[in-house]
Amino acid sequence: MRTTALCSLALLGTAAAAVMRRDDCPAPDVNPFEGRRVTVSHGYAGQLEQTFDSFIAANDTLNARKVRTVQNTGTFVWAPSISGLDALDATISAARAEQIQGGVDQIVGLVLYNVPDRDCSAGESAGELSGTDGLRRYKDEYVDAWADRLSRASDLTFAIVIEPDAIGNMVTNEGIPFCAQAKPIQEEAIAYALQKLQFDNVHLYIDISHGGWLGWADNLPLTAQQAGKIVRMAGNDTKIRGFVTNVSNYNPFQAEVREDYTEWNPSWDEDNFARSLAPFLEQEGLPARFIIDQSRVHLPGAREEWGEWCNVYPAGLGKQGLTDANPLIDSLVWVKPPGESDGQCGMPGAPRAGAWFNDYMIMLVENAHESIVPADSLERARQPWWPNKN
Ligand code: BGC
Repeated sequence: MRTTALCSLALLGTAAAAVMRRDDCPAPDVNPFEGRRVTVSHGYAGQLEQTFDSFIAANDTLNARKVRTVQNTGTFVWAPSISGLDALDATISAARAEQIQGGVDQIVGLVLYNVPDRDCSAGESAGELSGTDGLRRYKDEYVDAWADRLSRASDLTFAIVIEPDAIGNMVTNEGIPFCAQAKPIQEEAIAYALQKLQFDNVHLYIDISHGGWLGWADNLPLTAQQAGKIVRMAGNDTKIRGFVTNVSNYNPFQAEVREDYTEWNPSWDEDNFARSLAPFLEQEGLPARFIIDQSRVHLPGAREEWGEWCNVYPAGLGKQGLTDANPLIDSLVWVKPPGESDGQCGMPGAPRAGAWFNDYMIMLVENAHESIVPADSLERARQPWWPNKN
């Protein structure tokens, strides 16, 4: 009680509080997305010019104006390789310009995605690193380079998604020899990343896949235990903000129609996944806080099986931003940049994972959630501090 009282004094900045050590006060539970805009990726906005042109060529100005809105919407930026770290520099400088010259507080959304033997089960997004040599390079050339960049950006706030699919594979794919072999290496890799990225302005969200993968009753405790193990490996004082769900998947936050294939699963949409996982996370001493990827959401009946994850159609752009529908959720976000392919699978004509898939984006825009309000003008928004190219 006494500590709490003194801590509230500390917040008021009184002399009595000045004698207190910082560690005596628990960190206030502040949602980092509140009062901030997710940084817009100008590189991503440039790719969307193709989609804009397609709608103009078809005389569809309504959807062309929706594209203008999307070009000004924050998305997460991925660094899927060591050479891909350049993307971080571009995003950090864009955020800084927006914050200083534009006067809008930013939260920079980034994805750490280069764990050795990545995507060990699905095989569409294999990475550049493997085995123990890959682990060494991951630490020295990838994670340390992230830490270096973040240490020079204390003026900005970050939300970082940690290694999509890794925990999903650890929990359910030990029967696949490649995944079983990768598991201890990946645990060490992720623990190292958590340890190195401990900064007050950096909010870490560990990926725990989605309700259709880890939301089954049997998997919920295993998921929390796996996450707890990695966080403990990172050391006693390791802080994470929470977890991210549904990255690059298609589940709705709150399903309007419950799909047949979700029968027997308490996590039949991502809202329910967060709620059903929360008590297990708390048992492990982990924070039950979430962000949820809603960049692409399938339309009712789009999938025959929950296991369909690749360029699913029909789907539409989902809602993003703060929500008061579930107090466990910091924000709905766009982690997978909509329009970038999941792999050479799903909707016909799909290119390799990460490559631009214009026909797919056209469909996502046509089916966009009503919160994607068409811009007033067909002109692309510009600010003097934005790059001219793209
Ligand atoms: C790909 C990455 C890409 C990311 C975002 C992943 O599926 O493997 O290369 O950066 O999606 O589109």
